[in-house]
Amino acid sequence: MAGPAAELGITLRVLAEGADDPAAQVLTDVRLGGPDDAQALAGSAEGADALTFDHEHVPGSLLRELEEGGVAVRPGSGALLHAQDKLVLRERLGSMGVAGPRWAGVSDPSGLAAFGDDVGWPVVLKTPRGGYDGHGVRVVGADDVADTADWFERAAASGDGRLLAEERVDFARELAVVVARSPSGQACAWPVVQTVQVDGICHEVLAPAPGLDDDVAADATATALRLAHELGVVGVMAMECFEVAAPDGSGRAGVLVNELAMRPHNSGHWSMDGAVTGQFEQHLRAVLDLPLGDVSPLAPWTVMVNVLGPQREEHADLHRALLHVMAHDPGVKVHLYGKAWRPGRKMGHVNVSGPDLEDVRARARHAGDFMTGLIDE
Ligand code: ADP
Repeated sequence: MAGPAAELGITLRVLAEGADDPAAQVLTDVRLGGPDDAQALAGSAEGADALTFDHEHVPGSLLRELEEGGVAVRPGSGALLHAQDKLVLRERLGSMGVAGPRWAGVSDPSGLAAFGDDVGWPVVLKTPRGGYDGHGVRVVGADDVADTADWFERAAASGDGRLLAEERVDFARELAVVVARSPSGQACAWPVVQTVQVDGICHEVLAPAPGLDDDVAADATATALRLAHELGVVGVMAMECFEVAAPDGSGRAGVLVNELAMRPHNSGHWSMDGAVTGQFEQHLRAVLDLPLGDVSPLAPWTVMVNVLGPQREEHADLHRALLHVMAHDPGVKVHLYGKAWRPGRKMGHVNVSGPDLEDVRARARHAGDFMTGLIDE
């Protein structure tokens, strides 16, 4: 958010765990402390017009204390809970009649076995809180149920003991709808995108989702806007979902909602270069209750490819790749986050826009693969 904030003359203060954290590298007003440090949180919020997030790990109890003390927490703790706890989200989606995978809260391996026997194997087992990029998600077959005992022990030690079990959805592809909503209720939605995940990590986003049926796009967008409204979300929200042949048995294609993020999200990074208003600027506008910007695409297609931490340390300095990537294709937009190297870690992304999807996709992949050290020319 630092870039658009600077352009708009908005002053940001960041609470960071370390002085080397990406946001701390680019802002001058940095407070050090963890997301569960009540004093550091209160100090960061002091005098601010709004408090917002770039991850979901600030405990709801601390946010509620700040809200009681008059801090404008955006999104508020009540909305954010649905992005923090996958069981809470599943319950809420059920009561709203929003389609999702069949699921159950299970407390032990025998509960998981009963669920799998009911919906069919394999199933997907998830820790309700704290997961990201596929950490905290595993596929369990009928023969591996006993291996899940340690997950249930950890769940009992850290929460109410329940894990989320879901049917494994046989989806055609994964989609995401990114929307923004302001406290006065203005809302907007970028075009529905296709996300390509490998081992639970997003590798690529195609904007808009190629060949998506207009009715499916309209239904998914309406669902995301309805969720943002009914949950009282403020800021950017991403709704990740699965496209399936017939979610309601009607024979018509549609989506099942997987999860929500309430912050600028990987599935919206394409908008930084591919839309009139990018998600980070829009998030700032929304949390400050400024009028929202136009979300129209600037080109027929934008493809985003994540730059994942190279496997070999000799490729860890991503700046070494800039010379080649920039010289090879002046249309590539590179974003690096200043994160410490770890193989597979999301360390940046590239965006390419243009009139031909296959061309744009090939160029974005080339730049991403070069930066990741997978190719050397
Ligand atoms: P995270 O919190 O790590 O993002 P997700 O719930 O989004 O976890 O799961 C990560 C990935 O695992 C998804 O993008 C999808 O590819 C796969 N996945 C998750 N749930 C299911 C499911 N019920 N059926 C099939 N695949 C799933």
